[in-house]
Amino acid sequence: MEVIELTKALILCQSVTPKNDGVLDLLEKELSNIGFDCRRYLFSDSNTPDVDNLFAKIGSGAPHICFGGHTDVVPVGDIDAWSFDPFNATEKDGKVYGRGASDMKSAIAAFVCAVKEYIENNELKGTVSLLITNDEEGPAINGTKKVLEEIYKDGEKIDSCIVGEPTCPNKLGEMVKIGRRGSFTAKINITGKQGHVAYPQWTLNPIDSLTQILNSIISLKLDEGTEDFPPSNIEIVKIKSSDGASNVVPQSAEGIFNIRYNVKHSKESLIKIIDTIINEQVKNTDYVSNVDYNNSAEPFLTKKGNFTEIIKTSSDEITGLSAELTTTGGTSDARFFKDYCEVAEFGLIGETAHQIDEHVKLQDIKNLKDIYLLVLYKYFN
Ligand SMILES: [Zn+2]
Repeated sequence: MEVIELTKALILCQSVTPKNDGVLDLLEKELSNIGFDCRRYLFSDSNTPDVDNLFAKIGSGAPHICFGGHTDVVPVGDIDAWSFDPFNATEKDGKVYGRGASDMKSAIAAFVCAVKEYIENNELKGTVSLLITNDEEGPAINGTKKVLEEIYKDGEKIDSCIVGEPTCPNKLGEMVKIGRRGSFTAKINITGKQGHVAYPQWTLNPIDSLTQILNSIISLKLDEGTEDFPPSNIEIVKIKSSDGASNVVPQSAEGIFNIRYNVKHSKESLIKIIDTIINEQVKNTDYVSNVDYNNSAEPFLTKKGNFTEIIKTSSDEITGLSAELTTTGGTSDARFFKDYCEVAEFGLIGETAHQIDEHVKLQDIKNLKDIYLLVLYKYFN
């Protein structure tokens, strides 16, 4: 299949996490036809759905470039708000509409077609692989992380990875992501003493203590940022108290906040800062505090060098723009690859990702295929 045809075929599969709806079979068939050796990995874990994954490779030895991606998509949301059936891959005015068009089935099609074109015209001196999970938009427990563990047990070694997530804000070729911030969530629970609001002397209001703690936390200036990263940022995302009425001081209160942090911090340093603030607030009081921490991603940065330059110059040559090397945005499976190899992210425009009427321009898909092809030429020369 050529790149637009393959994109559409992938969109037709209703692969909402963790359902794969034949999408990996389709991809495996396409890759096998080109000569890839395909392996499937089905993983299970308690409390999460089973997930199917695909690792496909062609060639042997170093250098080994891997393309990381996901075939799963987020739910369509309000289906009546869509202009077209989200799983019909409708083409209109030079664009293709559908769930996963931007994030990130088109990029997978672009990469597959780039490799096909490359090996038709060149002798491959190294290895090209694709690591495709169907669990990126979900818990990400039975996906990329476990596939990497398994293939490394089998003796694979990846040197470089390009993750095809949508990285460009408005135009293809604007941004290459060379790192990502970490993501750290804390849930603070403060217990006081419930009672009548008219008799505060017999109560202990947990909201008073919680809001003081949260105020101290959002007033923190964690750092000034680095050459490659913006300053670390804290956002409170939820505040609630135990059920009651307007004349009842609640028994407990809970606040949740998330920190997107750069390489100046670690999970440990953040826990230390937060613990100190909480302890300062509750010591010598009858409040009881309880905190849950969840560090879902650590920050990473791929050093600017040969690999990042290959991606940037390939993009610049095709698009005529000058791609910026950045670390902005959310997390992706690059956070798992970073423990094994150098990794950068480059893909389509992310503006309509996860939205109603998600779409991409057909020309952008073709250009992305040409950029990936150029990356392969530069990488193996
Ligand atoms: Zn994605």
